[in-house]
Amino acid sequence: MPIASINPTTGETLKTFTALNETQIEEKLQRAANTFQSYRRTPFAERELLMFRAAEILEADKQELARLMTTEMGKPIKSAVQEAEKCALVCRYYADNARRHLADQTVETNATRSFVQFQPLGPVLAVMPWNFPFWQVFRFAAPALMAGNVGLLKHASNVPQCALAIEDIFLRAGFPAGAFQTLLIGSDAVEKILNDKRIVAATLTGSEPAGRSVASIAGKQIKKTVLELGGSDPFIVMPSANLDQAVATAVRARTINNGQSCIAAKRFIIASEIYEAFERKFVAEMRGLRVGDPMQESTDIGPLATPQILKDLDEQVRKAVAAGARVLTGGKQPERSGNFYEPTVLTNISEKSPVYCEEVFGPVALLFRVETTEQAIQLANATTFGLGAAAWTNDPEEQTRFIDELEAGCVFVNGMVASDPRLPFGGVKNSGYGRELGEFGIREFVNVKTVWIN
Ligand code: NAP
Repeated sequence: MPIASINPTTGETLKTFTALNETQIEEKLQRAANTFQSYRRTPFAERELLMFRAAEILEADKQELARLMTTEMGKPIKSAVQEAEKCALVCRYYADNARRHLADQTVETNATRSFVQFQPLGPVLAVMPWNFPFWQVFRFAAPALMAGNVGLLKHASNVPQCALAIEDIFLRAGFPAGAFQTLLIGSDAVEKILNDKRIVAATLTGSEPAGRSVASIAGKQIKKTVLELGGSDPFIVMPSANLDQAVATAVRARTINNGQSCIAAKRFIIASEIYEAFERKFVAEMRGLRVGDPMQESTDIGPLATPQILKDLDEQVRKAVAAGARVLTGGKQPERSGNFYEPTVLTNISEKSPVYCEEVFGPVALLFRVETTEQAIQLANATTFGLGAAAWTNDPEEQTRFIDELEAGCVFVNGMVASDPRLPFGGVKNSGYGRELGEFGIREFVNVKTVWIN
């Protein structure tokens, strides 16, 4: 895959980049290793100041950064502005809380004094996806840098300008040059870097195959990894739910980021009693979404990020239809240039069709009807993924069952699965392991050191 910015709305190639050569990669690795030796000793007060400055830059430049995101990967401009703001939020969260999350913890033992200390590990490689080109990176970088680590970013090959802009933000904030570096490289260069002794750990957000590859290389080297992979999140609606609210949220949860979110609701599991009403309202709202130029404030759905994603999605829909699915709306590309796909709703989905078990990365919703709570739980868990789950019900017993029995890294009751700097985020099953954000996130790349003194 070439490293290039290609506008998904127009197909125009905006900029191409030559991948770093071995000498350039070597320079960056050595700079990271050298910087770590001094940066790890910087006091929290200094890191906090730098991270607050990064937040200020993100806020001051949010319009320009948003235009860059939208131009490179097609998300609606209003969501891109929100993404820049959310990055500022995560910088501030860790500037405010890292010191507390990583404070020594005294443990009473038979020693005169015993405690746990959290120390940074070193240079961490971050392999990141294009779908939230700023947010995914900042939610790794803010805690990692606040813990005293340094970061190297291998961003997705279709968002090189975002990758460079992020490096520039940390530099302008005053972080030392080796604290956060972007490596413009293809995925074929990752193995050698992971095998390098100077890289001590890796985090990958992306697809299952990419996760398997990076984790197995890191595993051979006994290096810690965090994997944030795909999802096929269920969105369950039971009879006691507020139907109008559930429908409005369901539409947003499916179509956020043009449907290209790991935690987008992908499978809508609806109780039989309210199925017809849900279907009617949901289809009407999906039909009403404005598809178009993502630079327009009024646009709800822009183009998919690449022609390949569009092709894969169209193929998934075709195969589902061939296996018996009924198209309630959409089901094709609109007649216009760019990687657009109509908001689509499918029902009657056969267990044999690939969408039944694959992740659907685009504005395509799958509707399922169930008779009981038990069936809803079984269907929700009938996936190899386990990232998020949403359950709509006002019945307290049902709420408890969903919280206890849904196999996912998070359960949102009467709401939409979303990330929040204060709450841990991550998956179970093939959605990955480890956590980002909150107190758990900052503890992933630290040495939890036991100290025992007599
Ligand atoms: P992807 O194709 O796996 O790419 C993600 C990153 O991994 C890119 O930087 C890519 O580089 C790199 N990569 C791909 N194959 C690799 C390999 N064999 N070895 C090393 N690096 C490799 O995924 P994507 O299409 O960009 O992103 C969409 C996926 O990310 C979806 O499955 C989505 O659910 C998941 N995601 C998960 C989360 C979460 O928090 N759980 C959040 C966002 C997205 P190139 O671009 O150069 O190929």
